[in-house]
Amino acid sequence: MENQLAELIVPPVVELKELKNLFLQLSSKACNLKCKNCYIERNPLKNEEDFIPIEKIKENLSILKGRKINSLYLTGGEPLLHPDFNQILRMCLKITNTTVMSNGTMINDKKARFLRKIDDESQFETIYRISLDSTNELENDEMRGRGSYRKALGAIMSLIKYEFNPIISVVNYKNLKKEEIFDDFMNFFRKKGIEIDEINLKIIPYFPKNIEMEEIKNFEKEMLDCATSRVISKNGVYACPMLTNDYRARLGSSLADYSKVNYLDCEKCSICTKLGQRVQVNDWI
Ligand code: SF4
Repeated sequence: MENQLAELIVPPVVELKELKNLFLQLSSKACNLKCKNCYIERNPLKNEEDFIPIEKIKENLSILKGRKINSLYLTGGEPLLHPDFNQILRMCLKITNTTVMSNGTMINDKKARFLRKIDDESQFETIYRISLDSTNELENDEMRGRGSYRKALGAIMSLIKYEFNPIISVVNYKNLKKEEIFDDFMNFFRKKGIEIDEINLKIIPYFPKNIEMEEIKNFEKEMLDCATSRVISKNGVYACPMLTNDYRARLGSSLADYSKVNYLDCEKCSICTKLGQRVQVNDWI
């Protein structure tokens, strides 16, 4: 009876066997958009400058030296708003391939040309992941704000012009089938003379606000972001990008000393474990 009770109250555990992906949250509040369903809790202080100090990034990246890591990810808020973005990107590209998760508003032809120069200095690759939720301007701007569609599309075209192979990040608000979304985006870009592949689309499941904790049953550990990843924010080390800065998912203060064991005791975990797909980590890891 006692054991049965213990099983009921101890949440499932996921152990990080090997750190393959590290997310660096350059800022949580500094963003130039106010998307309706940003997974970072909306905050009246959004747009406040809360950038992670570059020294903290240097300190954590130095711990990675000599270790093999698949990918670094620069996230926010909007990572390109960080005053030291270029320097941080160069530091990351000395270590491994780096994915920049951006809303695209800061990328035009001039910026893309400069980003190409940074990329060419490195043996590793920069992958730009640009948020565009719909091929329909009104639908996209309804969620992300007026003008965001044109800017994101402009960024994608500028990046392609400078020989990047951007990924379009689509939040699946309507819970459509992956094939349906892919066909829509493929036809949309084909009309612009651009062929996209499945690798160019990252479909992010929609996590509604105020989700309730459900019982976590069977799940595939390998498919969870927390099984291969950690996040560094200015507040410490966290289990996964969806739970950055949530005190329940804080696992330490730096990569020098953090917990490899993560308890799935947050509401988002109960949705995430049901999905059977990687939420933020690149699909091809
Ligand atoms: S939300 Fe998903 S990836 Fe994040 S800690 Fe929970 S189960 Fe792991």
